Amino acid sequence: MKIGFIGLGAMGFPMARHLAKTHDVTVWNRTREKAERHVREHGTKLAEQLADVADNEVIITMLPTSREVDEIVDELWPHLRTGTLWIDATSGDPNVSRVTAKRLAEKNVAFVDAPVTGAVVGAENATLTIMMGGSAQNVEKAKEILKGNGKTLIHVGDVGAGHAIKVLTNSIMGATVWITSECLLLAKQLGIDIKTALEVTNAGSGRSNASENLLPMRLRDGQWPLVFKLAHHDKDIRIATALAHQQHASTPLLALTSQLFSAALHELGDQADYIEVAKIVAKMNGTEW
Ligand code: NDP
Repeated sequence: MKIGFIGLGAMGFPMARHLAKTHDVTVWNRTREKAERHVREHGTKLAEQLADVADNEVIITMLPTSREVDEIVDELWPHLRTGTLWIDATSGDPNVSRVTAKRLAEKNVAFVDAPVTGAVVGAENATLTIMMGGSAQNVEKAKEILKGNGKTLIHVGDVGAGHAIKVLTNSIMGATVWITSECLLLAKQLGIDIKTALEVTNAGSGRSNASENLLPMRLRDGQWPLVFKLAHHDKDIRIATALAHQQHASTPLLALTSQLFSAALHELGDQADYIEVAKIVAKMNGTEW
């Protein structure tokens, strides 16, 4: 299959690498050097210009938000070929993706939203969970293409359903990271060793991905790698909050999580990792992490 891949960031770079094992992959990235490196290291083809990407059976986008995806749709518009499948792996906005899908249909381009979860390590090891929205036929085709990227590929519903569940599941994670940080740091303030607090939490009912994998490295070992930008996480929770408003749903904890993450983003800046919200929790309590 001929695939054009747009967006070689933390997630897109390894995803395009795995796709290139079984497909003919052409890459384009805003910062050209990354695309050139991908071609050198992984035998992909370089799109000399963005328009070249349209010369493929499948286009995959892995960009920060739906806004950048729409900008790319605008730029590729005159070059789009009938029968193309557009897979958007971005964690996007379901309302926007439904409009984008309708627009692309005018050119007979099919659209599947296929956001992923599993972090950079999941992209590197091709163990992502991929949640997909679109018609059964288009999703089947997308699954066949993306199976080299993930171990769990789930058809969630119509276009936008993948993007919707992605922001909801990330909101669950955000709230969990925050409350776990609060309680672990409070344990520390109470004189309990952080190692012991983690040991007890992970042997009991407070256990989660946050307590087992995300926080020990930071709070116990003092390592704060950048794996997922807080700016991206904040965007996901804000989309989830907007969806709740749209449904007139009562989601006070989601609203609070959104407020906390937005405040943390203002404090920590665009390039912070999302688990650095634990530093804000510590600051709020005049304690150390
Ligand atoms: P990065 O910030 O690492 O990469 C973003 C990519 O988008 C880069 O290739 C960047 O190009 C490109 N880009 C940014 N702005 C534009 C623009 N205006 N026009 C064209 N290209 C642009 O993001 P991630 O790879 O971490 O995340 C991508 C998506 O995946 C996001 O929606 C995120 O929420 C989601 N996600 C991320 C996970 C993670 O752990 N990192 C996990 C699961 C989902 P350039 O190289 O020039 O900057």
